[in-house]
Amino acid sequence: MEQQPQQQQPQQHRDQYIGGGWRPSLGSESIPVLNPATEEVIASVPAGTAADVDAAVAAARGAARAWGATPPAQRLEHLTRLRDGLAARQAEITGTVVAELGCPLSFATPVQAGLPLAVAHSYIEILSGFAFSEQIGNSTVHLEPAGVVAAITPWNYPLHQIVAKVVPALAAGCTVVLKPAEDTPLVARLFARIVDGAGFPAGVFNLVTGVGSVAGAALAGHPDVDLVSFTGSTAVGRQIAATAGAGIKRVALELGGKSANVVLPGADLARAVNVNVGNVMSNSGQTCSAWTRLLVHQDQYEEAVAIAAKAAAKYVPGDPASAETRLGPVVNARQRERVRGYIETAVREGARVAAGGAEAPEGLATGFYVRPTVLADVTADMTVAQEEIFGPVLSVIAYRDEEHALEIANGTAYGLAGGVWAADNDTAAAFARRMDTGQVDINGGRFNPLAPFGGFKGSGVGRELGRHGLEEFLQPKSLQF
Ligand code: NAD
Repeated sequence: MEQQPQQQQPQQHRDQYIGGGWRPSLGSESIPVLNPATEEVIASVPAGTAADVDAAVAAARGAARAWGATPPAQRLEHLTRLRDGLAARQAEITGTVVAELGCPLSFATPVQAGLPLAVAHSYIEILSGFAFSEQIGNSTVHLEPAGVVAAITPWNYPLHQIVAKVVPALAAGCTVVLKPAEDTPLVARLFARIVDGAGFPAGVFNLVTGVGSVAGAALAGHPDVDLVSFTGSTAVGRQIAATAGAGIKRVALELGGKSANVVLPGADLARAVNVNVGNVMSNSGQTCSAWTRLLVHQDQYEEAVAIAAKAAAKYVPGDPASAETRLGPVVNARQRERVRGYIETAVREGARVAAGGAEAPEGLATGFYVRPTVLADVTADMTVAQEEIFGPVLSVIAYRDEEHALEIANGTAYGLAGGVWAADNDTAAAFARRMDTGQVDINGGRFNPLAPFGGFKGSGVGRELGRHGLEEFLQPKSLQF
């Protein structure tokens, strides 16, 4: 049985969810979970071993044929109960993500808890109307489940990234082993409890917490895994792709970005810049699709920098559990040092600090806080204009004309998201069509959880969300008559 929450004392979890129940981890090590605002240990989870992974994959393999053969209507019943479980536990989900990620309550409620619910709901609608077979000439083409899925997820949107992989995989008829990020395993355990309550057959969903280089690597390289779906850093993504390639496994990778928000002359500059600052500061800048490069025409440059600096000053770092807080800490000490290091590098390379800076924010001696920072005089070749920082840092870059803006926008290894603002949608959309990136918001177009999400170039392969996200977990089989 899973342990019940206790007051004050950090909870010491020792079990993994494998084969339809909680069972003791086969390893003896544990991973402490810290609250990034207080730096206190709030819980610990087992550091799963290769033996835990073997057990979980064996359970998933054992359940795969029967689950893959269920009629979609039966899977729909389970997924509806899962969706209802997510709906019933919104407050608990929010509280968990505030505590282990440091995400402010005001953002965690709609995004960390609300978005996964919306995504789970979207798959109920998609599955209800999805055609798993079609006739092509003398062939009947069946879309069959890909098999056993390894889902390896990061900490920045911990439940969303779990739901965006696990729910479509289950909807497709796949079975899953989830290895969540070390920093945010508690919401993953809560998700496993919700899955458990939804009555899925044993082995259809399994959770192994653990360290990436041990449990993650064992799962990604497991011979009995058919498809690896990974979100995280480029370095690990590259390793996973190589391992998957050697084992002829399918792979989906979501590896982050350095997205450009391009403000063309004639656009509403104040709105474009204010929305950009909100976009970067949300979740302390720990968003793979964040518009971390703001591109403005050289004639409007100083005006844009001033607007951005003023907007950034409204993101006063503070306690994420307080309803007023708009900017919490970053996830851990390593990330804080990394982000501060990038700000220092920018200054060394000639950037000007228009707001924030690398120093610790005043009055916050405890917690992994970083000042909301706007960097001006950034040029396209600087480190901060090329590398993903994953912190509350916006770089403002000047362009000469539209061609120059396009060259800068497309001039990184990444291509995940972006924004374009212009006097009219047609002008913005024409520019967006020339950007090498997977998603572009036109004049502030809002996030659509049904639209395919994923990257061009170094941002990865494959798509999540919506119908495209379901198709990632299917493979066609053609029968000729
Ligand atoms: P990471 O890539 O190390 O971790 C992501 C997941 O992969 C975690 O579950 C981790 O345990 C697992 N993992 C780590 N090594 C593994 C291995 N060898 N085999 C299999 N799985 C492994 O990312 P991180 O260290 O948490 O963050 C580092 C940087 O990655 C961030 O600063 C950011 O730039 C980027 N990042 C991007 C996203 C995104 O949404 N694209 C999310 C988180 C982090």
